[in-house]
Amino acid sequence: MAEFDGRTVLITGGGSGIGLATARTLLGSGARVAIAGRDPRRLSEAADELGAGDRLLTVPTDVSDPDAVTRLMNAVLTWSGLLHGVFVNAGVAVFGPASSVSDDDYDLVTNTNVRGAFHTVQRALPLLSEGGSIVLNGSWLAHRGLAATPVYAAGKAAVINLARSMAADLGPRGIRINAVSPGYIVTDMFLGIAKSSEEQEACRRQVPLGRLGAPEDVAQAVSFLLSPRSSYITGQEILVDGGLIPAT
Ligand code: NDP
Repeated sequence: MAEFDGRTVLITGGGSGIGLATARTLLGSGARVAIAGRDPRRLSEAADELGAGDRLLTVPTDVSDPDAVTRLMNAVLTWSGLLHGVFVNAGVAVFGPASSVSDDDYDLVTNTNVRGAFHTVQRALPLLSEGGSIVLNGSWLAHRGLAATPVYAAGKAAVINLARSMAADLGPRGIRINAVSPGYIVTDMFLGIAKSSEEQEACRRQVPLGRLGAPEDVAQAVSFLLSPRSSYITGQEILVDGGLIPAT
């Protein structure tokens, strides 16, 4: 029997990058997976690639809209009844020093990464079975003070602390909540920031393990935190960064 047989997991931002790799990993371990994101075409291409038939549900959703998150949970409830895991992964990055951050960019980043994460957790709770597990996607940047990342880094620190604070609340209900914090992972988001091969090489050189991360590297950590193998771990953060944080 596969590890996730009979378990249902919701992944926001599941149509690309780290979310898509996690969907692939969990489907490969027997899970039923619901993926959500804003772009229906991206979700449908992901569904074609995953080829999981009725073990996959796609739900177009903008997580920055609380009512849309409620509709997402209703769709999952109708499809599956219960949830065993949630990967709160949807995110956007807009970088620039504080003086250059427009109000629109501030709202986009914060409403997606922080408000969206909070509402996803809050509205998933009634569906989560005892033994359920929530994983939030943070970032190594939550631990660094770079001039170009004030809004993104502040939001990701909030997300990690959401996991820490909610662990105390959810523990007595048998629900765990943790965070993963990726380093440099090659996805559309990373390639949109480190655009040139020189910039990508400069990132790689900072990583003690000598390579940029793949989405699958993060998916493995998420799969562990969603599984019973981590049943005594809650309120924690796993850095999946090739040693970047200890070394810089
Ligand atoms: P991607 O851009 O591939 O993935 C982001 C996903 O989030 C997309 O599928 C996007 O889909 C979805 N998304 C964005 N906004 C919303 C929204 N409002 N509602 C619903 N879905 C949304 O990049 P990654 O896979 O790299 O990013 C995944 C997570 O990992 C993010 O939270 C990011 O901050 C984090 N991270 C990534 C790092 C990296 O180096 N790649 C490093 C540290 C953290 P759509 O556009 O269709 O909505």
